[in-house]
Amino acid sequence: MKESRQSQAVVGGVKLQNAGIVFIILAAVLIALLSYTVLKVSAFYSEFTRTSQTYAQLENAAESYQDAAAFLTSNARDFVSTGRRLYLDGYFRELYETRRCETAQNQLRQYGSPEIVSLCDEAEQISISQQKQDLYAMCLFVDSLGMKRSDFHTDFDSVELSAADAGLSAAAKQRKAQNLIYSDAYETEMHELNRIIEQCQDSIVETGIVYQRTSSQLLRSLMRLQSLLIGINIALMCAILYIGYYLILKPQHNIVQRMADHEELPLEGVHELQYIASTYNSIFEENRSIRDQLSFEAVHDKLTGLYNRREFDRRRAQGGYGTLVLIDIDEFKKYNDTYGHETGDRVLVRVADVLRQFFRKDDIICRYGGDEFAVLMHGVNDARKDRLEKRCIEIQQVLNQEEDRIPPVTLSIGIALEDRKTETNDVFRDADTALYEVKKHGRNGYTFYNPAH
Ligand code: GH3
Ligand code: MG
Repeated sequence: MKESRQSQAVVGGVKLQNAGIVFIILAAVLIALLSYTVLKVSAFYSEFTRTSQTYAQLENAAESYQDAAAFLTSNARDFVSTGRRLYLDGYFRELYETRRCETAQNQLRQYGSPEIVSLCDEAEQISISQQKQDLYAMCLFVDSLGMKRSDFHTDFDSVELSAADAGLSAAAKQRKAQNLIYSDAYETEMHELNRIIEQCQDSIVETGIVYQRTSSQLLRSLMRLQSLLIGINIALMCAILYIGYYLILKPQHNIVQRMADHEELPLEGVHELQYIASTYNSIFEENRSIRDQLSFEAVHDKLTGLYNRREFDRRRAQGGYGTLVLIDIDEFKKYNDTYGHETGDRVLVRVADVLRQFFRKDDIICRYGGDEFAVLMHGVNDARKDRLEKRCIEIQQVLNQEEDRIPPVTLSIGIALEDRKTETNDVFRDADTALYEVKKHGRNGYTFYNPAH
């Protein structure tokens, strides 16, 4: 077992454990980054919506400021032109109830840029100056009507007419009032106020454009990062699919199929599968060699490697081999006794080697017993026995020579040919009879079975 482990093939392949750790880390990093970008985009979106709304509000506020200023002027002018109270009421309602100017200023100051705030301050100064003039003109007009100021609005209580104006006639007071708010100076102030508000609007639009540009750049880079992460995610998924299919599922399917077919396993797939396959293969190989060894030993003689007696009997029973040659080493016991059992074994091995060398490949050569060998042959009959005789003589000659400190050996050989005349019709018995004849006549020779002997 130890040996087979050592002979196990060196396995390569991606280690599933390592790949798993890498995938988990990558997936965690990707999830974190993707979550980060998603949160960023959603925060950005809320901020963008809020800021866009603020810019729209600021634009509305500037427009409303302009409308309110125009409304005040128009009401003041209509009052001093017609003397109709509804214009006066409209003026003060705008100033103290609707309060569009004040609301717009507050919004612009709260959310506007420093430039807008400073423009707002300038606009406020002009508005205050215009409202003062409106109040003074409207007050002059109320006086010209000879009515009590407090009946119209408490703001008039604080207005002090100049001595010259106070002394004017009613018609002159009305003229003066009209002149005041239709004057070029007043008109110039109105234009200045409009110009400032327009500048304010331009600034809001410009800031909005810059904000939008910066925002879209930021959004683009966030989107690009998201696309990159999604791309990496897809690549990761593909890698997992690839490993799953080509390195796990397919090899595992092959393994199961090869196991069912009792075949060796291919070294493919992830490292762990390759390791299993390699271990299986070495056990498989070991089993096969044990099996081969066992089946070899079942039919062969352990010492000489020739067929054993059982196999001899089986082959003989199968038929097809009509001629039998029985060979016995002469006085084999003396080798054991003289040179030792080990030398005796070497004598047996040498005899086996020589037999193998001289007989044909399709002859069945076996060790029948201790120092006795048998050869089953086919196609050898009386007419063709010369070659067999020649072979017996050559074998005897070779073994008569000492070789590699193995002493010379002589053999007694009894042959029963397939076409012999026989009384028994038992090839083994006939060959044994022939062998006995050789032993009886001094050994070291061969003879063919002849019932006449
Ligand atoms: P013969 O000429 O009459 O055949 O005399 P022999 O001595 O050869 O005959 P015998 O049958 O008396 O002796 C055979 C001997 O072979 C007996 C046994 O100890 C020995 N033997 C049997 N098997 C083995 C073996 O595997 N190795 C060795 N070294 N000796 C064996
Ligand atoms: Mg013998």
